[in-house]
Amino acid sequence: MTDTNTAAAAPVRREAGSSEPIIRIQGLNKWFGHFQVLTDISLAVSPGERIVICGPSGSGKSTLIRCINGLEKVQQGTIVVDDIALTAGERNIEAVRQEVGMVFQQFNLFPHMTVLQNCMLAPMRSRGASKAQAEELAMTYLRRVRIADQAAKYPSQLSGGQQQRVAIARALCMTPKIMLFDEPTSALDPEMVKEVLDTMIGLAQDGMTMLCVTHEMGFARSVADRVIFMADGRIVEEGVPAEFFGNPKHDKTRTFLGQIL
Ligand code: ADP
Ligand code: MG
Repeated sequence: MTDTNTAAAAPVRREAGSSEPIIRIQGLNKWFGHFQVLTDISLAVSPGERIVICGPSGSGKSTLIRCINGLEKVQQGTIVVDDIALTAGERNIEAVRQEVGMVFQQFNLFPHMTVLQNCMLAPMRSRGASKAQAEELAMTYLRRVRIADQAAKYPSQLSGGQQQRVAIARALCMTPKIMLFDEPTSALDPEMVKEVLDTMIGLAQDGMTMLCVTHEMGFARSVADRVIFMADGRIVEEGVPAEFFGNPKHDKTRTFLGQIL
């Protein structure tokens, strides 16, 4: 763990679309038993790109992003993350997970560990960081999400918004190249949504490659480079926010936007 300080202090700002895709999904099909949950998904994500994925409940959004860090098995198609093919075995899944951070709707913090311990765990377990290194890294990212003053508390002592920011900090402690968010604000009381979105906006401004499943359309409009709309396991429509919101082409998109906006 030699790059702790530089990685924490100087996030690299990358221009969206400036280089080879960091995520390449081609011809992805996935089934749960006989039920086809994803159909013909192809998607290329550039380094630094910010993508919002939206669509009705049950359309396969969570399954798609879970496929990207190997949480779901894929039966057909290819997923390549930072030149690592995900479909080629367990070893690769571990390698990909080192590069991909994930934040869920439920914060999934370990309740018996303090905020600081939650953040120190993965770097020590899977990166061989010393306790001192892990603590320094954890405090760096806890400061970044503006919650360092809560480091000694247990998750149950924090608000939902604070817990979600800790979950973001914990993911960042693995210095991921890509962050996946699955409805990170859906379980929050309304007054806590903004603090989490602001944290995500900060990450976006630092150039993090982000895929966010969210129905926060204000966030999509202001942050996304591209909005992807899914229905029935397919990508039905995608576009830059102005085009997606201003001139949705597909009936299903219009119906969906009519319901949530
Ligand atoms: P979304 O995130 O868009 O709401 P999901 O990806 O969670 O959609 O689910 C898509 C569909 O797949 C739903 O019909 C859901 O019931 C089904 N599904 C999700 N996970 C499983 C699973 N582990 N086993 C069987 N069906 C599943
Ligand atoms: Mg979901």
